[in-house]
Amino acid sequence: MEAPGKVIVVGAGIVGVCCAAYLQRQGHDVVLVDRGAPGEGCSLGNSGGFGVGLVAPLSTPGQLLRIPRLLLDPRQPLSVAPSQFVRLLPWFIRFLANSRPGRVAEIAAARHQLSAQAFNALDPLLEDAGAQSLLRRDGMLFVYESRRSLERARYAWDMARRFGVKVHEIDGAEARDLEPALGPNVRHGVLFPDNGHTVNPLRLVQVLARRFAERGGKLRHETVVSIRIADDGKPQVDTNTQTHAADAVVLATGAWSRRFAAALGCDVPLAAERGYHAMVASPGVALRAPVTLSDRNVVLTPMEEGLRITGISEFAALDAPPNEERTDRIARQAGEFLPGLRTTGMTRWMGPRPSTPDSLPLIGPTPRHRSVYFAFGHSHMGLAWAAVTGKVIAEMVAGRPPSLDLAPYRPDRFRAA
Ligand SMILES: Cc1cc2nc3c(=O)[nH]c(=O)nc-3n(C[C@H](O)[C@H](O)[C@H](O)COP(=O)(O)OP(=O)(O)OC[C@H]3O[C@@H](n4cnc5c(N)ncnc54)[C@H](O)[C@@H]3O)c2cc1C
Repeated sequence: MEAPGKVIVVGAGIVGVCCAAYLQRQGHDVVLVDRGAPGEGCSLGNSGGFGVGLVAPLSTPGQLLRIPRLLLDPRQPLSVAPSQFVRLLPWFIRFLANSRPGRVAEIAAARHQLSAQAFNALDPLLEDAGAQSLLRRDGMLFVYESRRSLERARYAWDMARRFGVKVHEIDGAEARDLEPALGPNVRHGVLFPDNGHTVNPLRLVQVLARRFAERGGKLRHETVVSIRIADDGKPQVDTNTQTHAADAVVLATGAWSRRFAAALGCDVPLAAERGYHAMVASPGVALRAPVTLSDRNVVLTPMEEGLRITGISEFAALDAPPNEERTDRIARQAGEFLPGLRTTGMTRWMGPRPSTPDSLPLIGPTPRHRSVYFAFGHSHMGLAWAAVTGKVIAEMVAGRPPSLDLAPYRPDRFRAA
């Protein structure tokens, strides 16, 4: 689109809100549509991490051998609902295919490209909203119970180093110097000093959405039913109350995107990888920065409303009810590492990560309709990569050359796989 026009962004999670904010800066008339209030999908409940140094994807060499342990050890976070197994099989086959060393290196480069721009892209939005205090750059610590588990992670940390990421290995005592609340079972640590976190992921989306509205953007509380191309060749968005005509549409509905993508002629392997959190207002312990209990895949994040304990990768139907036992489990595991932790009065949450088998998002125009753009599939990194996604989407909609090589995130990349 050469001149500014009307753009509909569907989905007001962190990704949609950042797309709307950047499109607005290009002078477009932007309408942001969500069936709920901004930020109340997956973006509400994440760990708050800006894990910009975590370049290795989830699928790494040796993955196949690790699967039995992941599925059979009750301390491990992975679960696959039996009812979803057949449906998800193609997703897992692609996931394993992405664990070849050469492919992992390509994916890592593509992840690093997004992460390297994450703070630069978010900073102007935070500054404009007067919300810089929501983002902290105090690093991130990964802790291990044994030398063996540290060695298992070495592949990923060495890969990060190759991309110039600062990674410091420390022992248990040094980890407790940094985070005195940690107990004696922490034997090793790996510190990423340049990672960051937000102290309130929901408020981050809310302040950006509010600023978008203050600058003249339109927020619409409607449920999108379909996205289609009208007779004039332009896209239209049908909601439960009206039809919005537009010059361009951005699909940013996170884990709910697959059906819209399929209707637009692009079937994508997107899984709902459901995660859980426990929020503890008065935990009785304090952390300086996020700590990942690597052997359990549980993350502890200090937030303005207390301590957040997150974890679990549950592959289940999007609308299946939450399994409360999983929240209890991650809270118990947190207690094993934080001897002083009190979880009385904790609140619970579950939400779906929009996960792709190559740990990369889909960003760009759909193959059949160049005026409809995908901006979803950010898996475990949606918070960190949202602003850079918004920036490149706005560049593409304006017809300008994007500031990143977008080939690794092409929406049609799964066709040939
Ligand atoms: C436990 C957990 C921990 C995580 N930790 C981190 C982390 O530390 N760092 C990180 O970067 N990422 C993390 N993530 C991932 C991150 O939260 C997601 O990648 C990110 O929130 C996805 O954002 P989104 O805007 O794409 O989707 P969402 O936030 O889910 O937004 C999608 C929006 O689309 C709307 N929508 C859907 N269907 C319709 C419709 N038909 N009509 C209108 N609106 C619709 C929904 O209401 C929703 O508001 C974590 C996720 C989980 C579950």
